[in-house]
Amino acid sequence: MGIISNSLVKVSYSFLPIRIRSGDPTLKAAILTYHSQNIAGNDTTNNDHKALAADLHELHGAGYRFVSLPSLVGSLFDGGPIEKNPQTGQPVVCLTFDDGCDYDVRTLEFAGFGMQAGFLSILEDFVQQHGKQAQPGLQATSFVIASPQARQIIDRGSLFGQGHLSDDWWRAAAHHPLLDIGNHGWDHNHPDLVAGQYPRGGFTTIETIEHCRQQVVQAGAFINDKTGQWPQVFAYPFGESSHYIRAEFFPEYGREHHCLAALGTRPGLASARSNRWNLPRFVCGRDWSSPTELLATLGF
Ligand SMILES: [Zn+2]
Repeated sequence: MGIISNSLVKVSYSFLPIRIRSGDPTLKAAILTYHSQNIAGNDTTNNDHKALAADLHELHGAGYRFVSLPSLVGSLFDGGPIEKNPQTGQPVVCLTFDDGCDYDVRTLEFAGFGMQAGFLSILEDFVQQHGKQAQPGLQATSFVIASPQARQIIDRGSLFGQGHLSDDWWRAAAHHPLLDIGNHGWDHNHPDLVAGQYPRGGFTTIETIEHCRQQVVQAGAFINDKTGQWPQVFAYPFGESSHYIRAEFFPEYGREHHCLAALGTRPGLASARSNRWNLPRFVCGRDWSSPTELLATLGF
């Protein structure tokens, strides 16, 4: 009997460090996704810049707290601290920008629709208007595509070929208090790219260790070289992922990829019960097209 009891005690002690590091079960988060190249007009319904500016003000006015993605992931899964709003039970809000176009950080002309304020200047305007302490956790993660050659081809095929997928701003963004740089893969496995060693056109095809290493680890090393910081979070291109990358590569190869979490684009709130290797996100334009719709989507 004594031996059994002792062995049970031993077993429970061996799990103790995991319990201590578990996340906050009451925390819920809405991870929002914007694409700075999504411009087909000048309204919140067809322009992610107008949407971001309007959503920031509306969410702030409705009492939502913004938090950075790394601090959210740390709090959900590893017991890190986070500022939330316990009175209302509202989810905290994280901002993410996908594809890393220069429109994330630069105010540029967008053909047919005039000058567009960069996402960064929209965040800076918000801080200037409301003060730094209004939303101390406000920080967006910009998910960039690593391969310079792939960015050049995607820029020519899917943008205007004006070099608006550059990487000369990544280092400043990684060190800016309102921005962080995340990993959006080596080449997005984009259909504009010529077929090579691997099948093209989606991210469900990333099913081998070699292909995962190229898309995640090689990309992480390139981004680290440019910014001085290894990207902490991966966003699956197209929101797609294979069972292998979710269930084997990310959980088993942490020493290679050094990521805290990976994001998909299935709509929903993230919580400690979510799969940290496929966290849900809401996508602007797909899941909401006005601040009112966004508030309704978040349930408050
Ligand atoms: Zn993308």
